[in-house]
Amino acid sequence: MLSLEAPFSSSKAQLTKNARILVIEDEDLLRNFIGVTLKEEGYDVIEMSDGQNALNFLQSQETVSMDEMLDLIVLDLMLPQVNGLDIFRFLRYQVNTVPVLILSAKVSETDRVLGLEVGADDYLTKPFSMRELVARCRALLRRQQYLNVPQTAVKQFKDVMIFNEECRACVS
Ligand code: CA
Repeated sequence: MLSLEAPFSSSKAQLTKNARILVIEDEDLLRNFIGVTLKEEGYDVIEMSDGQNALNFLQSQETVSMDEMLDLIVLDLMLPQVNGLDIFRFLRYQVNTVPVLILSAKVSETDRVLGLEVGADDYLTKPFSMRELVARCRALLRRQQYLNVPQTAVKQFKDVMIFNEECRACVS
């Protein structure tokens, strides 16, 4: 069962452009619910229900501009046509480092470990709450955003880091 608790409604995604999230999930109700929830959080969401279509879409992503690049993929494992693990392997074969949050109905520890061992950034077992999904997406996006900060945008003086574009400094 899916928890119907309200998702976070307070802080929206604090990004210059809306982060783009691809949701690949064949259960219509769940995919729509995830889509609506993430859109409410301020993200741009692309929904796909079929593994082959998703794979074709990801192949077409090789040539898109920075603005159109995906920032996160929410990936179900059990999909028609092409399964989630094969999609994931294709991404990494492409040397595509977009963070991937795997969704799975599989509950055994082996499957969970497998998901993480193939290099998924995070793993969520169904059923899960939308709050948890949003929190995990947000954490992955934050980490990716930090990794993508151009070197020139960060200056360091002894133990103080200055992030120019964000008008922010932090002391380590
Ligand atoms: Ca499925």
